[in-house]
Amino acid sequence: MSVTAIVGANWGDEGKGKITDWMAKEADYIVRFQGGSNAGHTIINEYGKVVLNLLPSGVFHPHTTNVIGPGVALNLTELFKEWDQLIARGVPEPRLKVSSRAQLVLPYHLLMDEWEEERLASRQFGSTKQGIAPFYADKYLKVGIQVADLYGERDQLIRKLEQALAGKTVLARHLYRKAPWNWQDAWTGLMELAERLRPFVCDTTVLLREARESGQKILLEGQLGALRDPDHGIYPYSTSSSTLAGFASVGAGLPPHAVTRIISVVKAYSSCVGAGPFVTELQGETAEQLRVHGGDAGEFGARTGRPRRVGWFDAVATRYGCQIQGSTEAILTNLDVLGYLEEIPICTAYKIDGKRVTEFPETPKLNNAEPDLEVMPGWKCPISGVRSYSQLPRNAQCYVERLEEEIGIRFSWISCGPGREEIVPRGSIRS
Ligand code: GDP
Repeated sequence: MSVTAIVGANWGDEGKGKITDWMAKEADYIVRFQGGSNAGHTIINEYGKVVLNLLPSGVFHPHTTNVIGPGVALNLTELFKEWDQLIARGVPEPRLKVSSRAQLVLPYHLLMDEWEEERLASRQFGSTKQGIAPFYADKYLKVGIQVADLYGERDQLIRKLEQALAGKTVLARHLYRKAPWNWQDAWTGLMELAERLRPFVCDTTVLLREARESGQKILLEGQLGALRDPDHGIYPYSTSSSTLAGFASVGAGLPPHAVTRIISVVKAYSSCVGAGPFVTELQGETAEQLRVHGGDAGEFGARTGRPRRVGWFDAVATRYGCQIQGSTEAILTNLDVLGYLEEIPICTAYKIDGKRVTEFPETPKLNNAEPDLEVMPGWKCPISGVRSYSQLPRNAQCYVERLEEEIGIRFSWISCGPGREEIVPRGSIRS
């Protein structure tokens, strides 16, 4: 009866994919519960380096069942593209189940996303143009198309598409000055995709209920991070579905009390793709240095290839991120990245209008926030090969422990490299 959520404490890109792939070896079900193909999870294992956008990060373990839950924005073209790429790399066909209640990202969502970013021009939110905001807008306007609709009455589906397109036609013509769409455009290729999807579709809510009741281990894998949550993050520079563990049960279809373990993945420094306030952001040469040392091959968006904005560790944001996730534990990633630095600043508070602030504020206040930095000594050596906490240089241990003090939670594991096994238990012995 074990359900664990693996979620981000920051702005995304914390390394959730790596942690999920690593934990999946001892899990039975890996479930995506929100978001779509708008962000990438980078995984480095025996198949090389793979970026997953939609498929759950358990797909490399043939014993697991990978589930796309009702809360996901499902783009079938992207799903099968990713699937085909995996098979071409020699990954055995994963066991995949797709919720009949999940809703579809359709070509008009992608177009609306693109047109809206074009219209906003310099005021853009930094959309990845995967149709995610128009998709969730349709879902809550109740004109979304569910997977189950693909296998019902043809006329009903056409009526639903017409209804979904009615408002968009007006926008296309009068706001975006584009040729409007009709249901026939949306229909092209849809039935072929539906047939390909058919063997994977089931009521995943029943599947997961039975799995949980029979004591199977379930991982719920979040996309992006706490600070991108539409209610609690840096709205409107947020994503369009909840990134929080509190939503994991909803988006997966499990009772809230089933999720007993919430692992927040915390990055040892800050990174952020897209627009929005970012208090510890670095510029110039200092930023470039951190960017090229970051991640597995520099800090560039796994989905977009865009250079990520980077900054020092932000304890105000991360503490808040861990709190709103309801973390029962945390895992620190990317510690090895900081090994080139003589000194490592940490932001322990914000200065806003002359006041020291330690509670993460709302977006308008963030725009005026300055970081209050404390400087830790660096360790100036690679740590990727370490196999235990006690092998970490003393200054690296001090850095880890200072972060723990600041965020109020002890790390259970420390990731010291992008590879699957480059992770050590936190341990308690200082060298
Ligand atoms: P996710 O969406 O949270 O899975 O994160 P991304 O895949 O977008 O970005 C995380 C980046 O950090 C990727 O480039 C990973 O390969 C990399 N990564 C994860 N853990 C570590 C680590 O401990 N050290 C290093 N150097 N890179 C890591």
